[in-house]
Amino acid sequence: MNSHEYGDSQASRPQDHSRERADLRTGHVREDVARSGRCGNVHLATGRTCILPARHHGSCEFVGSREAGEAAGH
Ligand SMILES: [Zn+2]
Repeated sequence: MNSHEYGDSQASRPQDHSRERADLRTGHVREDVARSGRCGNVHLATGRTCILPARHHGSCEFVGSREAGEAAGH
């Protein structure tokens, strides 16, 4: 009957993100790749590195460490 009550329960939900550590926010970035103007994000599960341009749109595209090194100018 009271259809306007529907959205209320979610808005009052407490958020518990206060214990998130700020120093973990950057994650892992491969420095030589990042310094060459690329994303440099490291995928922890595979150890592969993103060589897309820094601050690229969309999701990262990870390549092997050799390819990442070549992209970084090695
Ligand atoms: Zn990326």
